[in-house]
Amino acid sequence: MTASPTETGATGTGTASPNITVPDELSNNVAITTIAKLLDPIYNWTRRSSLWPLGFGLACCAIEMICAASSRFDLARFGMEVFRATPRQADVMIVSGTVTKKMVPTIVRLYNQMPEPRYVISMGACASGGGPFKEGYNVVDGIDKFLPVDVYIPGCPPTPQAFLNGMIAMQEKIDQQSIATAPWYKKNDPTTEVVPIPVLGPDLVDMRQVDIIKAEAAKAEAEVETAV
Ligand code: SF4
Repeated sequence: MTASPTETGATGTGTASPNITVPDELSNNVAITTIAKLLDPIYNWTRRSSLWPLGFGLACCAIEMICAASSRFDLARFGMEVFRATPRQADVMIVSGTVTKKMVPTIVRLYNQMPEPRYVISMGACASGGGPFKEGYNVVDGIDKFLPVDVYIPGCPPTPQAFLNGMIAMQEKIDQQSIATAPWYKKNDPTTEVVPIPVLGPDLVDMRQVDIIKAEAAKAEAEVETAV
């Protein structure tokens, strides 16, 4: 049956009004949405349900991470069980353990080799702030001095349950992202740039701080000359 101009909302003036009557039996089955609102949940669901962590550990926290991958806790329920042996196939870096200055260049290099979108989870007190070794001469007080951390898991060590909770928090963060604003599709977005690899000499030097270090050294030198 052909709908009359009144039924289709045509006014005869060249403008159409969406005056369409939805039958009662269909009123709970019609959803009005936009492409972005439809696409984002699917895009995020596929990524959050197949997080592939990079398989490496730094200290005792790594043992708890390994426990979480066992059958008792079953990471596979969340699609996170595929620990990869290469950063090129991983999208989550779990920094689990004490971050020593010696290890930082390697950790940053591995991070740079991971493709976007990539995420970083700081597991335990050591990775988040140095933990019990914070004042140690060889320990970095938090991996977030070098890498952008998405989720912090507290504890010394965090239990496998806490680890799972952190991974679920990671999933919830991914759920909030939008394909329209994702930084990895933008050119020259600072959050997707390669992190300069720190140089380990007598101490660890963050290459992003070189200008500040030079300025401070020149200032100290000038003060010494003035004093002499
Ligand atoms: S936070 Fe505690 S358990 Fe984890 S690496 Fe540091 S000392 Fe070990």
